[in-house]
Amino acid sequence: MNRIEHSPAAIENSLPVLSVIVPCYNEEEAINIFVDSISKVKADMLGVEIELIFVDDGSTDETLPILRKLLETETYIDYISLSRNFGKEAAMLAGLEAARGEYIAVMDVDLQDPPELLPGMLNAIINEGYDCVATRRVTRKGESPIRSYFARSFYKLINKISKTEIVDGVRDYRLMTRRFVEAVLSLKEYNRFSKGLFSWVGFRTKLIEFENVPRAAGNTKWSFWKLFVYAIDGVVGFSTAPLALSSLFGIIFFLVAILGMVFVIVRRAIFGDPVSGWASTVCIILFVSGIQLFCVSILGQYLAKAYLETKRRPVYIVKETGEASHDEHRG
Ligand code: UDP
Ligand code: MG
Repeated sequence: MNRIEHSPAAIENSLPVLSVIVPCYNEEEAINIFVDSISKVKADMLGVEIELIFVDDGSTDETLPILRKLLETETYIDYISLSRNFGKEAAMLAGLEAARGEYIAVMDVDLQDPPELLPGMLNAIINEGYDCVATRRVTRKGESPIRSYFARSFYKLINKISKTEIVDGVRDYRLMTRRFVEAVLSLKEYNRFSKGLFSWVGFRTKLIEFENVPRAAGNTKWSFWKLFVYAIDGVVGFSTAPLALSSLFGIIFFLVAILGMVFVIVRRAIFGDPVSGWASTVCIILFVSGIQLFCVSILGQYLAKAYLETKRRPVYIVKETGEASHDEHRG
């Protein structure tokens, strides 16, 4: 590994590389705006050589042609294009595996992750001894109230039931050292919930807070349903509490059943047995079978995840890569 030299006066080919991974799914409007703002920040980061790695996550718009075109003029941009839309988690993994830098950042292309924070984040890693600097938005301005409500409830829930801490509002936007990324890559699971993985690997993480910024261009790629599935992935991936919950239900209903039995036997002995209570019986049957189905479905979620893990399918498939000819800088 290269010796790390942080002074701007360092000779060019010994500068450490900062790989910035940018997942893109149908982002034709956002890419050029993003590159412009990164090139401004580049001027404040003379201590590192920035390499931008765009991961085209199976876009169906002009994202890939735009990336190919960028490569013709820019010497610090690479891209990886996946064979279809695998989701942001897969796109991030593709980027992390391809990154060569000593420092590695992940950020969105829509400028909701302010590039101006990068110099400060790098500084915290180099001078304050952190292995990861993560970001968290403290407001959710511009987001629908229902979405915010569900997001908040999700973080509360997962932190109650999982040992892995996931901070409310934490973004995927972060800057990491090589050893931190190697640790994340050593987790070979198929169902990847990065917010959890980043926390699980440990090391010292600094949290930087910022105000929510609206998207620079284009639309969000996360429907409510996609977010819901993502939340389930998080819960199933980092906690087995729902399984314990179904055991708890089992015990509670067993106790209620015993009380009910005692009640019925005593009533029969004292008052005889007039036929009544049809409606309440139906309600009880429906209620209890509902709980049973719910518990079976919890079991099913874990089984489904285990099933997918055992298949050992690759998380993503690369269709095409493009590399700028920046080797002359590296020697
Ligand atoms: N993204 C992706 N694959 C997907 C969905 C999203 O690579 O299947 C990328 C998207 O291009 C963007 C980032 O993930 O760079 C965050 O997506 P978005 O801005 O839509 O999410 P939000 O900020 O609304 O949570
Ligand atoms: Mg966004």
